[in-house]
This record gives sequence, C-alpha cells and structure tokens, in this order.
Amino acid sequence: MQFRSTRSHDPQFSFKDAVLRCLPPDGGLFVPSSVPDMRQFFLYMDEKTSYSELVATVAPTLLHGELNPFSASRVAESAFDFEPELQQLDEDYSILNLYNGPTGVFKDFGAAFLAAVLEELLKNNGQAMILSAARGDTGVSLAKAFQGRQGLISVMLYPSGHIWGLDSSTFVTNGGNIIPIQIRGTFDDCQRLIGETINDRPFAERYNITSANTINPGRLLPQAFYYLYAFIKIKKSLSGGLVFSVPSGNFGNLIAGLYAWKFGLPVTGFIAAMNANNAFGDFIRGGRFTPRPLISTNSPALDVSFPSNYERLLAFYEEAPAVMRNMVFPGSISDQVTLKTMELAWKQYNVLLDPHSAVAFAAARELAESADYSGHVHTVILATGHPAKEADLVEEATGKIIKIPEKLNLLGKKSDPIALIDPQLDSLEGAIASCF
Ligand SMILES: *Cc1c(COP(=O)(O)O)cnc(C)c1O
Repeated sequence: MQFRSTRSHDPQFSFKDAVLRCLPPDGGLFVPSSVPDMRQFFLYMDEKTSYSELVATVAPTLLHGELNPFSASRVAESAFDFEPELQQLDEDYSILNLYNGPTGVFKDFGAAFLAAVLEELLKNNGQAMILSAARGDTGVSLAKAFQGRQGLISVMLYPSGHIWGLDSSTFVTNGGNIIPIQIRGTFDDCQRLIGETINDRPFAERYNITSANTINPGRLLPQAFYYLYAFIKIKKSLSGGLVFSVPSGNFGNLIAGLYAWKFGLPVTGFIAAMNANNAFGDFIRGGRFTPRPLISTNSPALDVSFPSNYERLLAFYEEAPAVMRNMVFPGSISDQVTLKTMELAWKQYNVLLDPHSAVAFAAARELAESADYSGHVHTVILATGHPAKEADLVEEATGKIIKIPEKLNLLGKKSDPIALIDPQLDSLEGAIASCF
C-alpha cells in the first residue's frame, strides 16, 4: 500500500517513508493512495482468532513489500499483549472494549503498533529518534510502547504542568531510550518546536528525527484492525446490518473505521458520536464546516473544535459524497444524557461505561429509535476509555464505586522530566545532545 498527501496524488510514499515523515512536505495529511481488498482474510477468520493473529495475517498484505509475514508476526506479538474485547449486550448492541492497554484508552493500540513496526522496519538499518508532544496519558502510552525498542529513542515534550506515570528506569539517563523534556510553555509550543527541530536539517539528520503525533499514519492505520476483529467475533450472530458507533473528537478512530470498510468490511454505517461540540455534524450532513468555540463537557476527549483529521475526512467526501452521506450519521449528546446513559448501561446491562463510550451508546440509541431498525441492525459501541479513569463520574451516574486497577493507579504518580527548558530550539537541541 502506497501513501499520498491529501493535497496531491503524486508523489507516492511507502508506509515506512510516510511513518518516518509523519506529514507530507506540502502540509497535507498522509492517506492511502489505493486500498487493497482484504475480504479473503477476515471473512474466513472466526471468533477463535486472536487479535495478534489477525494483525499478523492482515498487516503483510496491507504493507506488501515492506512487512513480510514473519516480520508481521513479530510486530503483532511484541505490540499486543492486550486485546480488544467484544461483549454482546443483546440482539441490538455490543460493546467493543478498547481500554485494556497500558493507559486504559484506545490510543494504546496505535502507539503500540507504531513502535513495534518501526523497530522492525529499521532493523539493522540505523536509528530513529521520535519526537512527540505529550500531555495527559499520551506520554505514558508512548513511553510504554517505545521503551526497550532497539534503534528507537522516544523524546516527549511536555508543556508546563504536572507529568505523571513515567518510569524513570526507562530514561536515557538510566540506560533506557525515553527522554521526557518539559518546556516552559504550552502544548502549541511543543508542537512548534517539533516542527522547528525537523526543519533544522543538519540536526534532524544527525539523529534521524521524526514525529509520532496522532496524525501519523503509523498510528491511524492499525486502528482499522479492531473493526475487523469486532466483525470476526460477531459475524456468526449477525442477521442484518452492522453499524459502529464511534465517540469522535479528532475523528481518527472514525477514519480508521472507514479504512476498514474500504478494505472490504461488510458494514452498514458509522455513527459519528459527538458531545455538545458538534459543529462537524453540519459537514457530515452535507453543509459547510464552520468551527465554533469550544464547550467544556463531561466527555473532554471529544471537546475538539477543529478536528485534526479534517482533511482526511474531506478526502472521503470529495471522492464519493453521496455514498458517504449514507455511510456516516452524526449524533450529538448532552452531558445530562451522557450521565443517564451511563446509568442505563449499568442498570439494564450491568456494564460500566466511561462518559466517552456513553456518548457513543446514547447516539446509537437515538439513531436506532429515529430509524426504527430494532432487530435489523446490530450496533457495536466503541468503548474508548476505561471507566476507572472517570471513577467519580461513573459513581455519580451509577452509584457504583469502582476499584481502580493497579496499572491505572500508577499513571497518577508524579514524574520528573530529565530537563526543564525554555521554549526555544537551541535549548531543546542542547537538552537532546546532552543525553549522549
Ligand atoms: C482520544 C479519545 C477519543 C476521540 O478519538 P478521536 O480519534 O480523536 O476521534 C474518544 N474517547 C477517548 C477516551 C479518547 O481518549
């Protein structure tokens, strides 16, 4: 599979080049330039197939010429010591739990694959230093994915504020390969510094520097795998259509679902489940997208006013606007309905949902009611965050006190960066150089 920019059909990039560049030179985003039909694989897999088996089977075909089946098995096994988990609630609904990774959010799936595949693609072939802007649990997710990987050094730039959950024994200063640096500045300063470092060609080439933020195709593409996985787990009990409801902020997860559909996944549609930040719904319905000011909600990961994947979604709609209109349905859920849905999921199904997953469940229920397709369509709700991460809200909604798993408890432990610097390129380059 080759990649191109959303802004041009030429040139084409290999997966490795696209991952190492992160962004195409023209300022667009990388998208697949052709999509292989994968039906022959996952139509014959069934509920006995494990997640790493599925990835090991699908990845070499997707990345033909770059990842052979042996390499793909190594990548799948070393990336995934956790699996998605499909839980069928009734005839109409299932939950796809994507929060079993090290930081309890679905983003662990992309980070884990990216780190493992980069190690494999660079094997015996040099080193790479991956710069990422980090806040919240993203830093931990990346650190867990990259720690101990040969030939890879992960530099994480944190804005001012607290840093949690890092293990100092994995830092370069202690013989590891992780470099957390705190910038006296904002998240935007971190992003800007990454761009400046990459553009300082002599420095970037000395360390072979690249970036791994969420729009890297190496994090996005592997998210398509768990849609295929949900299908092979549920297909035996499907009698009608299949819909996925996706809590959407930057729309990476939804786009990964659309890729799965392009690979041949027999899916009826996707629900783009938003909270009150729902301006993007206008675009999905065929109107213009006019960003609106941000509203703070109880599902903060969906509080996004301009989705970073906008150009990727636009590319889908430009290609086939009528098809897309019948494929993606927007939903918008208030804080109050989010809480009510968390309560309902607990009372009716004995299932604890975090607020983001509850937004997806509520949007699915609203659509099912308005379209009246009960019994004809099965909807898979993507549960993107571990309920224990929002324990207070879950307790408020359900009355249930959650026991926080030990690994998530450790995320709350304060960490110190190895350097605290001003938001300037020479300070950052100095801090990196002093590690070696
Ligand atoms: C990041 C995140 C989302 C939103 O995913 P996008 O790919 O940005 O749409 C949803 N839920 C949780 C818990 C998240 O962390």
